[in-house]
Amino acid sequence: MPQDNEPAVVILSGGLDSTTLLYYAHSYDWDVHALTFLYGQKHSKEVEYARHHCEKLQVKHRIVDVRNLADLLRSALINPDMAVPDGNGERSQQTTVVPGRNAIFLSIATGYAGSIGARNVFYGAHASDFGVYPDCRPAFVNSFEQTARLALDSALLQVRAPFLLCDKAGIVRIGNALGIDFARTWTCYRGGEKHCGTCNSCRERRKAFSDAQVEDRTEYAE
Ligand SMILES: [Zn+2]
Repeated sequence: MPQDNEPAVVILSGGLDSTTLLYYAHSYDWDVHALTFLYGQKHSKEVEYARHHCEKLQVKHRIVDVRNLADLLRSALINPDMAVPDGNGERSQQTTVVPGRNAIFLSIATGYAGSIGARNVFYGAHASDFGVYPDCRPAFVNSFEQTARLALDSALLQVRAPFLLCDKAGIVRIGNALGIDFARTWTCYRGGEKHCGTCNSCRERRKAFSDAQVEDRTEYAE
């Protein structure tokens, strides 16, 4: 737990998981410095919502523009020529992996932590993503923490993923207890006005609310 309102970096996408993480870290009196990445994602709502919650909690918020990454990385999340698939199978989800995304973001976040004297970096990895997203798994988190300690020459640096053993429903329960307005979080991988309701990510969102028995006030297109 933090000492004397200690600074901590929180990677915040504006999705359900990382918004819960933001409120969670804030509730423990960390001096939160949120980082949101623009990396060519097809929707801008996430970033608007990230901004909203940081303003509401009055935490520092930096938006990092790395949109050129979309020229290098291949994923349905960022390449306009690749469609985000319907369905709920692991194979269709594979196209939504952005190779090394969390490793890239965590590298930037630990550099930022070193710059502001923060020894703690939070990110929202959780168990529901282990199957498809390798940079959400415990082995990666532990290994990255070691790497970051060497990179910053700081044995005290901690990469904190407090939801690592939680599923998405568990995160909904925690966020609900923290009073989060989940209607102002964005999950859909498509770039529509509303959540599409049918992409993998929307299906997982719906299921998480249903499993958590928390009212889902998200507006879905179908
Ligand atoms: Zn969707």
